[in-house]
Amino acid sequence: MKRAVVCAILLVMPVRSAAPTSAQRLAAGSRLAENARVRSALDWLNHNLSWVIDTQARLTEIPAPPFQEESRAAAVGELLGESGLTVHTDKVGNVIGEFRGENESEMVVLSAHLDTVFPPGTNVKVHRDGNRMMAPGISDNGTGIAALVAIARALQFAHVKPERTILFVGNVGEEGEGNLRGMRELVESYRPRLKAVVVLDGSGTDHVTTRALASLRLEATIMGPGGHSWSDFGMPNPINALIRGSVRFINTKIPAGPRTTFNIGQIEGGTSVNSVPHEARIKVDIRSENEQELARLESALRESIAAGVRDEMDPPRDRSKGSLAWKVELLGSRPGGELSKDSPLLAALRAADEFIGNQSRMERSSTDANIPLSLGIDAISIGAGGTGGGAHSLQEWYDAVGREVGLKRALLTILGISGVAEDKAR
Ligand SMILES: [Zn+2]
Repeated sequence: MKRAVVCAILLVMPVRSAAPTSAQRLAAGSRLAENARVRSALDWLNHNLSWVIDTQARLTEIPAPPFQEESRAAAVGELLGESGLTVHTDKVGNVIGEFRGENESEMVVLSAHLDTVFPPGTNVKVHRDGNRMMAPGISDNGTGIAALVAIARALQFAHVKPERTILFVGNVGEEGEGNLRGMRELVESYRPRLKAVVVLDGSGTDHVTTRALASLRLEATIMGPGGHSWSDFGMPNPINALIRGSVRFINTKIPAGPRTTFNIGQIEGGTSVNSVPHEARIKVDIRSENEQELARLESALRESIAAGVRDEMDPPRDRSKGSLAWKVELLGSRPGGELSKDSPLLAALRAADEFIGNQSRMERSSTDANIPLSLGIDAISIGAGGTGGGAHSLQEWYDAVGREVGLKRALLTILGISGVAEDKAR
């Protein structure tokens, strides 16, 4: 039986060839959408937008704080199973639905992170007003996971048979201190069969993340004996030392370029207003387009904290009652990386954009795509359509108007890179 890949022109393109022209991309996108089953999958998306919005609300209302994604993972697994996928959960908690292709020795991933930044107990009830919804996590990443299950359902409904196997993944550990552990485990277990990763994160269709922003997350802790505010006055105070050190750190010069940022995002310590604390700590996020700048800022943090401790121990007061200790620990790091401009994955995305009449800019960001990109595996992160705002805040909102553009864009991109087994699809 003759088997061909619909977008073979993209997949066989030599790595060093020039990027495809706009006309070639449009041709590739149109050829894919000329396929009757692909068209039927696109139609399914058009006709089931209310199912997608209901599913988004339902999944958003299942709490998924960092390291507690199980219930949401189970619900996503059930939905993927209903779409005929073979579903399992791996050892870190990723839920993986396998959509078998003709060629099972090669795989592509469509993923959406399950976790939110919100702690247990956060009210995640969704308030709806037509197409607009409000709830913590509704857009980041309610939009992505709803799109993930919708695309699986559309492909199953339309009996599309991909050439390469597509893994539909609801992954853990993208936010906060998750340190991308879900994506790390996924990439580790499917290498070297893994050919490309498409990450669905949040809303929008205006960007494609092709460059991975490197980041470091650090915790600085200062410890001392502690004591009574009156009777132990003079005892070195970890909060004082941390403030002194933090002020030094935030005065660190950063270059105008490469773009580099830092943020003291959390501060804690002490037990009561009338106690000399025995411990104080800050959590710091550092990001840069250049990994050397990350290393420089990490050293600056260590030096600042050490200096803060020295300043606190200095006269004028008698510090003989005790001394301070300090440490700076790594909470997580995200490696950098970049997608080649002539990669077949970028060509597939551009072909999808061209076909649906969408324009998008290339962006650098810190996402699940950092892991595959840092290992030389083609990866992008895109929004899943509609518009959203207030991400990571209790005022987060999502508006589903225009969402079908994002759904189609993601569907055509993943099929563009998986290929469609032609004989069964026509
Ligand atoms: Zn996100």
